[in-house]
Amino acid sequence: MQSMSLVVVGSVAYDAIETPYGKRERTLGGSCTYIALSAGYFVKTSIVAVIGEDFAVKDRELLASKGVDLEGLEQVPGKTFFWSGVYSADMNDRNTLRTDLNVFAGFQPKLPASYTHEPYLFLGNIQPALQSDVYRQMRRVQFVGGDTMNYWIAQTRDELLETIREWDFLLINDSEARMLVQENNLRRAAEKVLDLGPHTLVIKRGEHGAMLFRRDTLFMVPGYLLEDVFDPTGAGDCFAGGFVGYLAERGFDLKKGHVDLEELHRAVIYGSVMGSFCCEQFGVERFQTLTRKEIDQRFEEFRRFTAF
Ligand code: AMP
Repeated sequence: MQSMSLVVVGSVAYDAIETPYGKRERTLGGSCTYIALSAGYFVKTSIVAVIGEDFAVKDRELLASKGVDLEGLEQVPGKTFFWSGVYSADMNDRNTLRTDLNVFAGFQPKLPASYTHEPYLFLGNIQPALQSDVYRQMRRVQFVGGDTMNYWIAQTRDELLETIREWDFLLINDSEARMLVQENNLRRAAEKVLDLGPHTLVIKRGEHGAMLFRRDTLFMVPGYLLEDVFDPTGAGDCFAGGFVGYLAERGFDLKKGHVDLEELHRAVIYGSVMGSFCCEQFGVERFQTLTRKEIDQRFEEFRRFTAF
């Protein structure tokens, strides 16, 4: 694995989740957590986030045991970000019951000096202002991309548009893409998103797969057909981790216009693979045992299932 690292910002959270297969009252979650765990199979990851005094030592240890660099994880008085959601019977829809920003409300990240010269940056789902703040502190990024969600599109639209203008790529799900540019037709929505700044757009469609849009390519993959889906929480973030982790592993420099479409397509497949593993168990549990070998095997399976 290369020594350069991927810097990830996003939420580190406690989640309450209910799916048709069960529920958890309080389990480790957050966009940053999932992205870092997933990307960590491809590249060293360093996180920027804040936690409250209620954050459990075992959760910090889990991240550390997976090689995540925690120097940029600040602990302050107050409570950790809390989110709760309930899934529909087919798990394609979810209802957010609570989003308590808690310590994230006043967070002003100060990047450790060791992070500011890293080449890869992924701005996970969190306040857009915070995403910008981290980007401004980075000195020599080779690519920057990010994610967002309906909550921020509704609450902080202008700030979000300002933030994504400088990104190389944006990953969002289909309903968020439609909401962002107020266009129901997905193909037209994608065109409009590409007018907002990012030259590469990945639209995630849950169990229906994902699409990559650029002015010079359109690439589509189906979802991996899992026998059991226990909990889709974090699947989008794990997709992002696989996508960006693979690009970092391959040493992409998008700022120099170094784009290899086939590699971008492979990154989408790795994203799909990581999203699928995430759903196999509750919360982050699948990452306790997942190996790179299993990841590469599923990547090859994707190739066989879709080649013609
Ligand atoms: P995903 O299923 O990939 O959309 O990610 C779910 C994770 O995002 C959960 O672990 C939540 O803690 C986190 N999350 C939910 N809402 C927000 C939000 N508004 N900002 C940041 N993170 C969030």
